[in-house]
Amino acid sequence: ELATYESRTPSSREALKKAQPRMPLGVASNFRSYEPWPLYIKDAKGTHIHDLDGNEYIDFNLCFGALMAGHCHPAVVRAVQERLETGTMYGMPHTLEFDLADEICQRFPMDQVRFGSSGTEVTMHAIRLARGFTGRDKIIKMEGAYHGVHDSVLVSMKPKPELAGPDDRPTQVPAASGVPMDTVKNTLIAQFNDLAAVQRLFAENPGQIACIIVEPIMMNIGVCMPEEGYLEGLRDICTREGALLIFDEVKTGAKLGRGGACEYFNIKADLITLAKSIGGGFPLAAFAASKSVMDMIAQHKVFHAGTYATNPLVMAAGLATFREVLTPDGYAHVAKISDALVDGYNQVLKSTSIEAYVECAGANGALLFYPKRIRNFREWQKVDINLWKLYWFGMINQGVMAQPYWWDEQWTISMVHSLADVDQHLTAFEKIAPAIEQ
Ligand code: PMP
Repeated sequence: ELATYESRTPSSREALKKAQPRMPLGVASNFRSYEPWPLYIKDAKGTHIHDLDGNEYIDFNLCFGALMAGHCHPAVVRAVQERLETGTMYGMPHTLEFDLADEICQRFPMDQVRFGSSGTEVTMHAIRLARGFTGRDKIIKMEGAYHGVHDSVLVSMKPKPELAGPDDRPTQVPAASGVPMDTVKNTLIAQFNDLAAVQRLFAENPGQIACIIVEPIMMNIGVCMPEEGYLEGLRDICTREGALLIFDEVKTGAKLGRGGACEYFNIKADLITLAKSIGGGFPLAAFAASKSVMDMIAQHKVFHAGTYATNPLVMAAGLATFREVLTPDGYAHVAKISDALVDGYNQVLKSTSIEAYVECAGANGALLFYPKRIRNFREWQKVDINLWKLYWFGMINQGVMAQPYWWDEQWTISMVHSLADVDQHLTAFEKIAPAIEQ
């Protein structure tokens, strides 16, 4: 599969060679770098994307799940074009911003919103807000969870097994150099789906934990569902202990349905973070909470600012996305497409001896090369990476970008994928399955 990839994509190899002297790894974000070389992209529209050699792929990667609208959604493009002539940034208030804040509060059980430009930015602000509100420094995050690239969450991202400590008491491991140990010590770690570990952390750190930050469905280990009662348990512990529950809904916010994970699981978090697909292809992020929590900002007790916050082009894109893309009809369409794709995968899997299963939630799904359902990061570490690589490169060579490169990711179904796209996806999988099986 690799030889075919290499022979089909020589221009990407050349582009990487040109980029390497000027950019570390030749890419703008570490996740974009992989062997033998990443695909350099020429253009994209709807559900299709082209690399520099003109190879076409049906795109189920969709910018790491940031494009539920698909590429260049007409409603988003129109809204941005209309806005483009009226000033691209002001650094001053304008009316689109409260329209969008209102849209968010209509969908999520929150009173107030502040905006940013990336998931990293809003998880950083949400954690700071929780610290300011509670007057406590420590936070709990789950092992293997990804919440962006600020110091507090660059802890136990994907720790090596020899450093990670016991299953029920994970060690706090800095993700890489440059994260101060003073920060690391304030980020306590539990396994996803382990309520007892969270209870123990609270017992061992009485009155010191500001918040739990959790992705309600862990999407950086494929797709990993919370077990029955887990999120409710986190909710109860936070309420009892006076800590805040932060749902990092950067991925789940737009993917599970109109009201994100709060609605899907019927749980009210204290703070949520949103990014990726709410922007329809533009850098839009937000954090939202109750008025009593956000009053910390209103009373100048917690600081929040940003030159790029509520950039009018981005706000126009976001409003068009909420109003014209992330609609009930849109979600019904995604559910239909997702069912067809998952059914198809299961049928092909049934006819082979490949040890794998499909997990899906809303617009997301993943093929996990493991014989049983994983429930946390440590189990996910056992997935067969070699089989996954055969799968990913096999699919790419068939013109299907089944998901982003990296086995911890998942596919995204957009509002504009068709059943024909699903057919092509499944035909490709059927074709490559024998090679994976061997
Ligand atoms: N939180 C979650 C759950 C994410 O998946 C990501 C990005 N994959 C982030 C935060 C960080 O977002 P960004 O890359 O926009 O900083």
